[in-house]
Amino acid sequence: IPSKLPDVGTSIFSVMSQLAAECGAINLAQGFPDYDPPQALTEALARHARTAGHHQYAPMPGLPRLREAISRKTAAVNGVAAPNPDTEITVTSGATEALYAVLAAVVRPGDEVVVLEPAYDLYGPAIRLQGGIPVYVPLRVPEFTPDWDLVKAALSPRTRLLMLNTPHNPSGAVLTAQDLTTLAELLADTTTLVLSDEVYEHMVFDGQRHASALQFPDLAERSFVLSSFGKTYHATGWKVGYCIAPPPLTAEVRRVHQFLTFAVSTPAQHALADVLADAEQYTTLPAFYQHKRDLFGQLMQGSRFELLPTPGSYFQLARYHHISDEGDLAFAQRLTREFGVAVIPVSAFYHHAQDHGLIRFCFAKRDETLTQAAERLRQL
Ligand code: PMP
Ligand code: GLN
Repeated sequence: IPSKLPDVGTSIFSVMSQLAAECGAINLAQGFPDYDPPQALTEALARHARTAGHHQYAPMPGLPRLREAISRKTAAVNGVAAPNPDTEITVTSGATEALYAVLAAVVRPGDEVVVLEPAYDLYGPAIRLQGGIPVYVPLRVPEFTPDWDLVKAALSPRTRLLMLNTPHNPSGAVLTAQDLTTLAELLADTTTLVLSDEVYEHMVFDGQRHASALQFPDLAERSFVLSSFGKTYHATGWKVGYCIAPPPLTAEVRRVHQFLTFAVSTPAQHALADVLADAEQYTTLPAFYQHKRDLFGQLMQGSRFELLPTPGSYFQLARYHHISDEGDLAFAQRLTREFGVAVIPVSAFYHHAQDHGLIRFCFAKRDETLTQAAERLRQL
């Protein structure tokens, strides 16, 4: 049949994880931890799995007790008024479903969506499946910060949505309060909406604070803000995330969500509601990942890779020009096959596979895994 996405292959994350498995390589490619969620969470899940009546459809927007816990946590973490659980919070099957539901809810054929590139691989194809037109604005390399004049130039009367991602995948760059203030000013006289993908919100380092679109009233009123329990609780396989947006925007997301997945795993929602009241997990996450970033950085000092600064996320970019002049995909594949460490080529985050000679490591791994991987990488 004629494909709706003829130019799109299998996601690079599946491709590199499969290659890693075939080669028995250490997988620093696809972003997921090689450790389990906190015991309080897995025990809560077991408890709810044994509880009669916790196995049928959850309410379409999410369990009320989970939405209430999300509301309280959001207010505490971001220093904002608590979002209304009934009208402003929707629990989704990971941030992935939230991304898709938002795009399906607001993008009409011919609408333009501004995407800062490099971007998470789902954004472009999901926009195009709605008949939307991605308008790509390059981030500055190698800082991966936005040039707001370029963003301004990309806006048109047809710009329906602008997509943000902070902390940023793949670069780890974070937007500042000044960035968000500038963006709010740029959008002031427009009807452009904002999708702010903040799944790595609790991975910001060196004493810096995450700047959320929720903290800027002029942005918050036009924003869908997404997060993911997969990242915060080392549970990417649970696929539970959420979307926070003002009531009229939430109403539109739910119109789609009800026909996309309808509702999210009931026992998983109960378990997350149990643990979310305890701030321990997300308040200790910055130090937990900063330690891993710094450990990996130190271990790689004896290598010929050149690591870029990583202010946030669980990703580390590296240049390899002292080692090879191969393209980044070829280099990533060879690293996996010959040196037993799988990584992601950054060109996979560009719609035209732009190659800056950069690869992405995921450092959400046990210290022993990072140590073993770095030993191999120092041989290059
Ligand atoms: N957005 C970004 C930037 C991501 O890196 C991810 C991780 N896969 C997602 C969204 C999807 O999140 P989830 O796993 O909760 O669907
Ligand atoms: N977000 C993860 C990453 O960037 C991958 C998620 C996926 O495999 N779809 O590696």
